Amino acid sequence: FTETDVGWELEHSYTELPQLFYSIIEPKPVRSPKLVKLNEDLAGELGLNIDALKEVEGTAVLAGNAMPPGALPLAQAYAGHQFGNFTMLGDGRALMIGEHVTPDGRRVDIQLKGSGKTPYSRGGDGRAALGPMLREYIMSEAMHALGVRTNRSLSVVTTGEPVYRENIEQGAVLARVASSHIRVGTFEFARGGGSEEDLQKLADYTIARHFPEIQEKEDRYSAMLEEVVKRQAELIADWQLVGFIHGVMNTDNMVLSGETIDYGPCAFMNTYHPDTSFSSIDVRGRYAYANQRMIGGWNLARLAEAMLPLFHEDSETAVEIAQEIVGRYTTWFDKHWLDGMRAKLGLSGEEKEDEQLVEDLLSMMKDEKADFTNTFRSLTLGCPEATPLAGTEAFDSWYKRWKERLERQQESEDAVRERMKQHNPSVIPRNHRVEEALEAAVKDSDYSVMDNLLDVLSDPYAYTAEQEAYTEPPAPSTMPYRTFC
Ligand code: AMP
Ligand code: MG
Ligand code: MG
Repeated sequence: FTETDVGWELEHSYTELPQLFYSIIEPKPVRSPKLVKLNEDLAGELGLNIDALKEVEGTAVLAGNAMPPGALPLAQAYAGHQFGNFTMLGDGRALMIGEHVTPDGRRVDIQLKGSGKTPYSRGGDGRAALGPMLREYIMSEAMHALGVRTNRSLSVVTTGEPVYRENIEQGAVLARVASSHIRVGTFEFARGGGSEEDLQKLADYTIARHFPEIQEKEDRYSAMLEEVVKRQAELIADWQLVGFIHGVMNTDNMVLSGETIDYGPCAFMNTYHPDTSFSSIDVRGRYAYANQRMIGGWNLARLAEAMLPLFHEDSETAVEIAQEIVGRYTTWFDKHWLDGMRAKLGLSGEEKEDEQLVEDLLSMMKDEKADFTNTFRSLTLGCPEATPLAGTEAFDSWYKRWKERLERQQESEDAVRERMKQHNPSVIPRNHRVEEALEAAVKDSDYSVMDNLLDVLSDPYAYTAEQEAYTEPPAPSTMPYRTFC
């Protein structure tokens, strides 16, 4: 067995940053690693050998039991505003084995989550339970298939060790793949615990890694902020368009690459309501569906604040620069959101009344407790009678307005339907389906339910017959669905 068997090409550009940004750590081997889930498509894209990953030696790496040649396991330091409160954090249960360079030249972090204690573990055990790791796998892969920027899941390995939560759970390690893990919280950490030089080095590193096109600009730090703000605006608008609720939008869970990360208490909305929130710890609904837009802006203001000294030596001018850029967030968000909503309704071009058309639909959906995904799906399929909105005078008049708007764009019905299909998923990872898959896997080691679900979710815009059964919303329940970190 040699490194070429799996094909890891690991580098460590992060360690060129000053020492305060990370800690090199010893991996903590687990008792008996067993590969229960491997993302073969992703492994292929990364240029990794699937058979070699399934071998004992290949799997050992995915569990943190062995490091491939070239690995340099480290935990990253960061801070963050958690539910509004500033805290020093860091990878408390994750380690990065290195940055893998793919055959097509992309650089991605390979991170093991649930890999044991680190200097940043605080009171935690550094471990993860099987259910939540499989859940992250399903949710992140579903988001990828939906076309939302996200980190990916490469594998889940069970450890053969118990993890003590409310109950005794099976331990597991998730291998995830991300463009990087540079967070808003990494900048807050640099500002709070480092020198101005440290901050500048972090910004230069971020620019080199994610925004090389602005590297030569004199105002590259404000240009970087602008790019980050734009990417986040588009990302969070994309969440809104598919009904995704992240659940824990702390600044340590927002990355500058513009990917979705940290799939803890996230979930998709069934019945449309702006106040929807699932997280058991988000008691005040700070991160509820309709608040995600505002919180995104709040988090970016924390990034701008941390970066202030880089914008200008005169602090008042620096604040002005920061405010001007962060101030554009809502404009970018709203534009991306409205464009997305137009596409969901099959509209092309722009008309002044489009926004009202969308708002009126959402308002009826809220009043009638309509399923978010299925309402758009029914409109796409040309069967509005399948929505709970149908039959009211308000809906009839809305429907007429919509049809008139479509007629004005002079496209074939097929062209409109195609656009709608591409923007309205037929299937999402519905909470009851996800639970069902996790239960079979965790209780009975039966992964077939999860595999079927992943298969259906892998092409959510396909509208296939197999997907039909997965479009059902959950049966009404007296118990609200709750998610955990
Ligand atoms: P999260 O809410 O997932 O963003 O996690 C917040 C912080 O808690 C991060 O610094 C995590 O590394 C840390 N953390 C979460 N779970 C554990 C655990 N079981 N052991 C140690 N640290 C943890
Ligand atoms: Mg986190
Ligand atoms: Mg988490």
